Amino acid sequence: MTATKGYAVIAPGEAIEPFSFVRNTAGELDITIEILYCGVCHYDIHQARNEYGNTHYPFVPGHEIVGRVVKTGSAVTRFKIGDLAGVGYFIDSCGHCQPCRSGLEQHCEVGLTPTQNGTDKHGKPTYGGYSNNIIAHENYAVKIPETLPLPGVAPLLCAGITAYSALRQWGIGKGHEVAVLGLGGVGHLAVKLAASMGAKVTVLSGSSSKKEDAGSLGASGFILTSDAEQLKAAASSFDFIIDTAAAKHDYNRYLQLLKFEGTMILLGVPPEATDLVAYHLISGRRRITGSFIGGMKETQEMINYCAANGITADVEVITPDKIEEAFDRTVSGAVKYRFVLDMQETKNEEQS
Ligand code: NAP
Ligand code: ZN
Ligand code: ZN
Repeated sequence: MTATKGYAVIAPGEAIEPFSFVRNTAGELDITIEILYCGVCHYDIHQARNEYGNTHYPFVPGHEIVGRVVKTGSAVTRFKIGDLAGVGYFIDSCGHCQPCRSGLEQHCEVGLTPTQNGTDKHGKPTYGGYSNNIIAHENYAVKIPETLPLPGVAPLLCAGITAYSALRQWGIGKGHEVAVLGLGGVGHLAVKLAASMGAKVTVLSGSSSKKEDAGSLGASGFILTSDAEQLKAAASSFDFIIDTAAAKHDYNRYLQLLKFEGTMILLGVPPEATDLVAYHLISGRRRITGSFIGGMKETQEMINYCAANGITADVEVITPDKIEEAFDRTVSGAVKYRFVLDMQETKNEEQS
């Protein structure tokens, strides 16, 4: 058993607060990670506020985790004590089904074990990375190079792989005109990654204040989505739209910006449904699809790609007492571009 100090929403509607709990005994193939940094993904907020109606309380969020291995099980071969390790959206899957065998564990047919708000193989709730340690099977953690700034690495474990996997799945790169809808955590990494892969990137944003940043992140165009004239002028101009908007929005408004056979890739998970007008897909044979994080092999590939290309998230590092404020500022789009919790503070508090 591992004593853990974390932060939880205890009941619906309550603010997040300190929460101590005990993690399972680590198995022979498990590594125990002392968490250094954990990103604040918008999904944490959706779940903390029970926006999908399926949150189990107490709820400990956090699935953008970077830390150091402090213990290894007797059969662990991939990690040694002192290594940096990263954990993302899931800590386990069946390992046997077709998706698992093809490196698409996120689509496990038996059901993956999410890092937060799930049930583990012992039947116990999973508690995420807003805490000072986590235990993961060695195959569900990735190696993190020592060369990258760690706070900026944490968001790569969810936001980064989500953008990367969508870009790779659709072979996006040189010669493609790509629009990224929503310049937040996932969106700003989608801009950096797509630009690094050679695509011509335009940001579609509701915030005129983000125009300058869009340019420095690698975009060559910026469209203010509240301006109907700007949208009209951009009709039929993109091969892909990567939609990262976290709140309900009208897909039909943006589908018209796609070229013939252009593709809109949904990454954002607004809690409410939106009606689709068939005409916008029928005319121009446009497509709409979605993508969900990435598998373990691809997550490691993404980390290595980011290390080779010097890509990390733009972050605002905070202490855990600011989580509630970070939730509010993320929802209002007032973060550039990801909050990251410094969990070392938690460890220090515990030792004092
Ligand atoms: P975030 O940092 O809050 O960014 C979302 C951005 O969406 C905002 O910054 C804002 O950008 C834009 N936005 C907000 N409301 C909008 C609206 N009504 N219409 C259009 N745009 C709007 O959130 P995030 O962490 O990047 O996550 C984004 C979404 O992706 C969330 O729903 C999250 O749960 C989901 N997600 C999915 C996956 C996956 O595997 N598919 C993985 C991670 C996250 P502007 O200010 O530029 O307009
Ligand atoms: Zn996430
Ligand atoms: Zn499986």
